[in-house]
Amino acid sequence: MAQPDPFESATKQVNDACDVLGINDKGIRDYLIMPNRFLRVKVPVKMDDGKIRVFTGFRCQHNNDRGPYKGGIRYFDPEGGVKYMEREVMALSSWMTWKCAVVDIPLGGAKGGVFVNPKKEKLSDGELERLTRQFASRIAEVIGPQKDIPAPDVYTTGKEMTQIMDTFTKMNGNNYSPGTITGKPIPMGGSLARDVATGLGNSYCIREAAKILNIELKGAKVVLQGFGNASTFSGVYLEKLGAKCIAASDSKGSILVPDGFKVQELIDWKQKEGSVVGYPGSKEISTEELLTTECDVLVPGALENQITAAIAEKLKCKIIGEAANGPTLPEADPILYKKGIFVIPDILANSGGVCISYLEWVQNNMGYYWTFDEVASKMEVKIVKGLKDMYELSKKHNIDNRKAAMVLAVSRVLEAFNHKGIWP
Ligand code: NAD
Repeated sequence: MAQPDPFESATKQVNDACDVLGINDKGIRDYLIMPNRFLRVKVPVKMDDGKIRVFTGFRCQHNNDRGPYKGGIRYFDPEGGVKYMEREVMALSSWMTWKCAVVDIPLGGAKGGVFVNPKKEKLSDGELERLTRQFASRIAEVIGPQKDIPAPDVYTTGKEMTQIMDTFTKMNGNNYSPGTITGKPIPMGGSLARDVATGLGNSYCIREAAKILNIELKGAKVVLQGFGNASTFSGVYLEKLGAKCIAASDSKGSILVPDGFKVQELIDWKQKEGSVVGYPGSKEISTEELLTTECDVLVPGALENQITAAIAEKLKCKIIGEAANGPTLPEADPILYKKGIFVIPDILANSGGVCISYLEWVQNNMGYYWTFDEVASKMEVKIVKGLKDMYELSKKHNIDNRKAAMVLAVSRVLEAFNHKGIWP
């Protein structure tokens, strides 16, 4: 395997949390680490030219001690091939368990996907729909509103989620079951606020961190790495709290606007010009310059592995709100801790998405739908409590926030397991 094994990283994080909690029993550690079930399926699809092509799909269910499994379905073709994707899906399912537990939502962790890149392979709409429905039919026996609730992920959208829900419904005697899946379009039983959830949740975390650090958010300087869903809405909601965004980036480059820009104006510019680069009054800078710009809040909201040890040494921010998954390398964490930078780890900072998914499922189960403000305020309660609980543990054990978030999550799952025990 050419790349580092993601499931090894997930395993190490659980072991580190067990070290802090004084859990030395290997059986308990294995229980927390290993997925409950890994399903690998063959997905045969009749292509437009009449030939049959067989894809490989997965659903990994890591832990359901606290509630039904929850996690995305991605269409992806990572460099390491099918074997690597298996390990990646296992790791991601484990991280979903901890992400749900850290914000105390009654769901477990899962992840799935098909080894395919629909964009690169230029699959037609018909081919993609047949692939999606075939995959749904092959995992149908392990998913369901009270069993395992998938959601969109890399290269899947509300369209695929609707097709999965419809396939599942038809396979179950037309039993209307919108709670089979989340991330659905609003007319299909989706939730308000899902489109902004990750950035909004991150802004709640940053607001609470600023209170802890006694930082006034009015006029605080914000740097956004990436200018997609997670980072843009982090910017939009921080701006509503009075902060000023001064730098942003996308795949084409990075810009600095020392006096600040209005997020909506940069969104409009990017829509028209295809990139943040060239925004009037901005100066083009390198990725390293963007990350190390002097600011109050840094939002790494695009890619993994951005904050290396070398970058961490040079950071001049007070709070990091990790909207992206895995933007910080493990080697950087001790440096950030020593520098006193308040890191809001990804499993908490970007948990707004899964919080609203949970609330979508609750609304589906009730058959009654809340307003945007009702949904947002229910998410706020979960996220604010998660941040406070994490911070208390970091103080209690003298550990960094990332480790504290894992300790919190692992202890919550373990508590549920201890109540249930093993049966039969
Ligand atoms: P997105 O596709 O909407 O945006 C990604 C952004 O990153 C784009 O602006 C793109 O131009 C930019 N980008 C790509 N390469 C870059 C580079 N080299 N340098 C700087 N910017 C670059 O994706 P998203 O949904 O915002 O997801 C971003 C991250 O947030 C991912 O790690 C994702 O897993 C995580 N996340 C997102 C959500 C969500 O609900 N959207 C939830 C949890 C986690």
